[in-house]
Amino acid sequence: MIKGMTRKRTYRAIYRLLDRVSPVPFDCGTICGAACCDAANYDEEMGIFLLPGEEKIHDRKADWLKWNTLSTDEYEFPESWHGNVYFVRCKTPPHCPRAMRPIQCRTFPLAPHISEDGILHLIYNDSDLPYCCPMIENETELDPDFIRATYTVWSHLVRDPLIADLVELESSYRDDKAVTMVI
Ligand code: SF4
Ligand code: SF4
Repeated sequence: MIKGMTRKRTYRAIYRLLDRVSPVPFDCGTICGAACCDAANYDEEMGIFLLPGEEKIHDRKADWLKWNTLSTDEYEFPESWHGNVYFVRCKTPPHCPRAMRPIQCRTFPLAPHISEDGILHLIYNDSDLPYCCPMIENETELDPDFIRATYTVWSHLVRDPLIADLVELESSYRDDKAVTMVI
């Protein structure tokens, strides 16, 4: 398993910080039938990659997640990522222990982007998704506390060289002028 520098206690602090915020002040799942969670019900490829070391705060025996390992050779990961990564799928989406949602769920619908001048930004997630997120589609104005907390979290995470390499790789596929910088 690839080993990042981000410690268990940092992941705990990140989860706690993000527990206090939400993208919008209502349950956005009510407007789309929780499309992002529900995708796991019909698309075998949908799931969540844990960041390097994020698995340390999860219980592999917990009954709500199905764990898989994927080789970094088989997918487009940064060259610095050697070994396996955890890919998890929720067994009963959209129901999960909220306090244990992985970072990928907590910071959605935003994504980190490092611009050509090396600055970290947040953008609306531009991954090729098999569903429509109304918040991305409409570039819904998001809660400023959520944006701030999410930016703080990614600022910490990119101090880990492996995570920085991932964000830089994904950013390299984008044209700065074609994305809307939320921050
Ligand atoms: S993040 Fe987007 S897709 Fe997911 S529940 Fe909210 S509005 Fe729906
Ligand atoms: S962990 Fe929760 S929020 Fe994330 S995909 Fe699973 S059910 Fe949805």
